[in-house]
Amino acid sequence: MSSRSLPLLPLALALALALLPAAPAGAAPADRPGGFPNILIVTVDTLRADRLSGYGYERPTSPAVDALMAAGVRFDQARTSEPLTAPSLASMITTLDPHEHGSTRNGLAVREGLPSFTKILSRRGYRTAAFVGNWTLRDELSGLAEHFDEFHEVLTRQRWFLVRREADARDLTDAAVEWLEADREARGDRPFLLWVHYVEPHAPYRLHEEHAADLGIDPRSAGPADRYDTEIAFVDRSVGRLLGDVDRLDAVDPTIVVFTSDHGESLGEHDYWGHGRHLYEPTLRVPLSITWRGRIDPGVVGAPALILDLPATLFGLAGFPVPTVFQGFDWSPVLRGEAEAPSDRATLHQAHRGAVQGSENPEDLRRRGLLEVARIAGGVKETLRVKSDRRWLFDLAADPLEKRSQVSPGSPASDELAIWLDEVRSGLVLSDDLPPPVLGEEDLKELEALGYLD
Ligand SMILES: [Zn+2]
Repeated sequence: MSSRSLPLLPLALALALALLPAAPAGAAPADRPGGFPNILIVTVDTLRADRLSGYGYERPTSPAVDALMAAGVRFDQARTSEPLTAPSLASMITTLDPHEHGSTRNGLAVREGLPSFTKILSRRGYRTAAFVGNWTLRDELSGLAEHFDEFHEVLTRQRWFLVRREADARDLTDAAVEWLEADREARGDRPFLLWVHYVEPHAPYRLHEEHAADLGIDPRSAGPADRYDTEIAFVDRSVGRLLGDVDRLDAVDPTIVVFTSDHGESLGEHDYWGHGRHLYEPTLRVPLSITWRGRIDPGVVGAPALILDLPATLFGLAGFPVPTVFQGFDWSPVLRGEAEAPSDRATLHQAHRGAVQGSENPEDLRRRGLLEVARIAGGVKETLRVKSDRRWLFDLAADPLEKRSQVSPGSPASDELAIWLDEVRSGLVLSDDLPPPVLGEEDLKELEALGYLD
């Protein structure tokens, strides 16, 4: 039974969550006698994996992130489900694809009452907090605050002309570090889940002159891609400061640290600058690493991963049962060296128009926004441009720059991609006035067996 074919199932879990008992005091996974692990998730907006020195880039853009990744498991083929900020990060939190959680475009909030791994962690005794420095993630636009005990919008600066207020990496780090320090006593024995989302290196790419020389960039002739690189160096220093603070906590509370991005950035490839409108690799691919010192050995995973795999994987690592209603792959057995990475995984992707004004009907905005769908399997990527019915097929190993499609543009989509398109479309026309959730007998049994129901 696939959860993809059951749009009501997430709501069934939402109902189950409402009934979920808080974790009994002192409860801990069997393999962690010291208690639950702290979890830190660092996401850096618009960050291409191949622009990090840790992924082989020739410029030393990211020493702090490189050191973190070297101490953990680095995923070499991680992608986002949708290359837009709020849709992508809402998938990371809910495990749902954008057409299911409803935030298919920036400015369209996720549906209310959805389940999420952060809500479950909160019920299990975690103190959950988010620090976001990006206007698109403000609760008013994203609807994400309900998924955290504390949702801090750090909006201290005017960064570019379209945006009234954002935070730069230093301000965001200050706020997160202050929370870590001040909260330590208040937390007591409670573990934390802290998510910090940085805005840089999102456009407009500012030149950070203090990093130009280290990167071999002449500030007088720096082009946009050079400036983008200095933004990475700038945010990397702040990530390093945040990690240093968590390291101090590590002595007593081992922390699982996740590093990733919401999407990449097209830096002129396919005559396109930016992200969101297409599903080419520069915007789909993201860095992804999971570091848990002393608990998982450093390594590299070459199989395809998705950002929405994180909840299942974190639950697996922490020793919590993973509900089958969680989408995404649980990588924890692979990270512990107990299983091989899957070799036959297919991943599904979607692209929608960018930000919306909130005045129109959300369902209309969702339906009119769909641009592309794609499916990647066995190193082959099939993409369909929805309106023009144009299709591409790329062999990603032989043609990593996606320049030579192996099919004519008008050829019909594969059955698998046609099914995916139908599914995405059906999610987009789903009204906000959903029927009440129906919790099936089997769902109830499973959730009860997992300890999520009494
Ligand atoms: Zn973004």
